[in-house]
Amino acid sequence: MSTLDDSIRDDFPILRRRIDGRPLVYLDNAATTQKPVAVLDAMRDYYETTNSNIGRGYYRLSFAATDAYEHSRGVVQRALNAEHADEIVFTPGTTAALNLVADTFGRSVVHEGDRVVVSGMEHNSNLLPWRRLCETTGAELVVVSGDATGRISPARLAAALDERVRLVALTHVSNVLGTVNPIRELVAESHRHGVPVVVDGAQAVPHWQVDLRDVGADFYVFSGHKVYGPMGIGVLYGRRELLSELEPYQVGGGTVKGVTHTAPVKYVPVPARLEAGTPNVAAAVGLAAALEYVEKLGWQNVQAHNDALVRTAVELLTELPAVQVLGDPAGDPAGIVSITMPGIHPYDVGGHLDKFGIAVRSGVQCANTFVDELGLVGTVRMSFAVYNTEAEMRQVRDALRTVEPGFWTHEHPTERFL
Ligand code: PMP
Repeated sequence: MSTLDDSIRDDFPILRRRIDGRPLVYLDNAATTQKPVAVLDAMRDYYETTNSNIGRGYYRLSFAATDAYEHSRGVVQRALNAEHADEIVFTPGTTAALNLVADTFGRSVVHEGDRVVVSGMEHNSNLLPWRRLCETTGAELVVVSGDATGRISPARLAAALDERVRLVALTHVSNVLGTVNPIRELVAESHRHGVPVVVDGAQAVPHWQVDLRDVGADFYVFSGHKVYGPMGIGVLYGRRELLSELEPYQVGGGTVKGVTHTAPVKYVPVPARLEAGTPNVAAAVGLAAALEYVEKLGWQNVQAHNDALVRTAVELLTELPAVQVLGDPAGDPAGIVSITMPGIHPYDVGGHLDKFGIAVRSGVQCANTFVDELGLVGTVRMSFAVYNTEAEMRQVRDALRTVEPGFWTHEHPTERFL
C-alpha cells in the first residue's frame, strides 16, 4: 500500500478546480504533471528576488542568478546520480534534447551506409530525429520490434546489432502501454557490440529514481514538466567523454569567448557550449524544486503509490467486459494503464470521461507507428501521479460503464488524430 495519503492533494492548487461543478480527476500525467506549490513558489521567488541574465552581468544580482541556475544543475546531477555536473545540459525538453543529440553526436558517428537502431515502440520524438538523420546521411533506420507489449529483450536487440550499426536509440518506458524496457541489459548488450546508446527517459524519470550510473547509457534525456516541474525545461545527460567532444548544436551568445571576424571560433566547454542564448533559468529552478519535492516525499513512496494505482486500475477495469486492458501494465508498473473499448472510438471514450471531469489521453499518443503495430486506431491512456487516488479509479470505472459509440468512427483518417 502507498504511504502517500490524500493530504498531498493540498500541495497542488489546480486540484481545487472544478469541471462543471465536479472535482477535476486528472489522469493525463504522462502528457504533463500538475505543479506543487513548492515549484510555483520557487519560480515566483526567483523572479521576485533574483531574476537577471546569467553568466553575462558583472554585478551581484547576475552572480546570484548564475548560482541559482548552476545549483539547479547540481540538483539534477545528484538526483539522477550522474558523475559530474557538467554532464547535465539543460534543454527545452525531451524532444529538443533528442534533436540535439541527433544533430551533433548523430551526425558525427552516422554516415552513408551505416545503421541506426530504434525500437518499435518509440514516441515520435525518439523516432523522427533518427529517421531524418538517416535520410540526410544515407544511413538506414532499423526498427526492432518487441514482444506483444513492445518490450525489447537483449537477444532481440543483439540480433540487429551488425557491424553497420553506429547508434541505438531506445525508450526506457513506453508512453503508450507503460512497458518497461530492461534498459541496463540493453545498454550493456549494445556496448558489448561497441555501439553507443541514447535513452528516452521521459516516462521513466517521473516514476522511480533513475540511477544514470546504473543504467550506463551514453545519453539519457527527460522533460521537467512530466516530473512536477515546469514546461520549457528538460535535461540531456551525456557521458563526459562523449558530451565534451560535441560540436555546438546552435551557436550564439553564451557559447564563445573572444570572437573576431577572422580567427577560427573557439567554443567554451560543455555544458555552456550546448546552451546557446539565454536559458530558461526560472524553469531550471522550478525543475530543481520539483526533484527536491519528490525526494522529500521519497522516491520509493512515489513508486509504491503509482504501482498501487496501476494495480487497482487494472483490477477495476477488468470488471468491465467492454474494456480491454492493453499490454501488461501491472506486470512491471510504470504509472500507465491503457485500454481500448472495441467498437468505440478512443475519442468518444475520452469525450465521455470528460463529461465527468476526468481527463485522460485518447488517440495515437504521438506514437502512431506502435499503435499501428498493435492493430489499433488509438488507445485511451490513464497515467498516474502522486495526487491520484483509488477513489478516482472507481470513478473512472463507473463512468466507463456508460460509454456508447458516438461521433467518431474507425474510418476517420488517422492524420486527424494526435
Ligand atoms: N518521449 C516520450 C516517451 C514521451 O512520452 C514524450 C512526451 N509525451 C516525449 C518523448 C516528448 O517530450 P516533450 O514533449 O516534453 O519534449
